[in-house]
Amino acid sequence: MSIAKNLNHITSTIPEDVTLVAVSKTKPVDALMEAYNAGQRIFGENKVQEMVEKHDVLPEDIEWHMIGHLQRNKVKYMADFVNLIHGVDNFRLLKEINKQAEKHDRIINCLLQIKIASEASKFGMSAYEAVSIINSEDFLSLKNVNVIGVMGMATFTDNKKQVTQEFNFLKSTFNSLKNIEATNGKLKIISMGMSGDYQLAIECGSNMIRVGSSIFGVRNYSN
Ligand SMILES: *Cc1c(COP(=O)(O)O)cnc(C)c1O
Repeated sequence: MSIAKNLNHITSTIPEDVTLVAVSKTKPVDALMEAYNAGQRIFGENKVQEMVEKHDVLPEDIEWHMIGHLQRNKVKYMADFVNLIHGVDNFRLLKEINKQAEKHDRIINCLLQIKIASEASKFGMSAYEAVSIINSEDFLSLKNVNVIGVMGMATFTDNKKQVTQEFNFLKSTFNSLKNIEATNGKLKIISMGMSGDYQLAIECGSNMIRVGSSIFGVRNYSN
């Protein structure tokens, strides 16, 4: 199927209040343009340099989401345009995002990445850490970041029961965070679900899904 058809299929089968992030990592700009021409405006990338290069040549009304693991020294390259950073997994990173956002007189939206998978390779902070951050005085002083939700990646497994438990855990973490009063932390987004599990994620309360291969086809990392 074409990119436009894939997109249409997904957008017509998810609820209206669920935001679709089209994960375009490794894909060439003409593939992104095909999605753009089919109406898609939100794209997710996992490497800063690749996102910057695509941002430079693609239409200005695209919203760019950084979904990958992020190093502090890379924040500056995208601070002038990034719309949402999904993978904030420690407070020092949040401080750096705040610093770079301030330079551009912007407020950058962030999600706290929570570790929900059993695999050691998946990044994220504990639910406890997330609550401590949102409750801290240090966090309140970061005027140029806005924490608007949480993000998680489930274990890569066919075990539906396990994935459901992990999604439910993220949802309950969100619930315990969303009632905390902070001017720069009003949580409304739960970013969970990818090509293989987005329907299940939505059933578990996701309102932002990150879908790549079901839109653009399988990725080829060899080039
Ligand atoms: C690559 C990636 C996705 C999309 O994965 P697909 O299985 O291709 O849909 C979603 N989230 C993150 C963080 C990713 O790195």
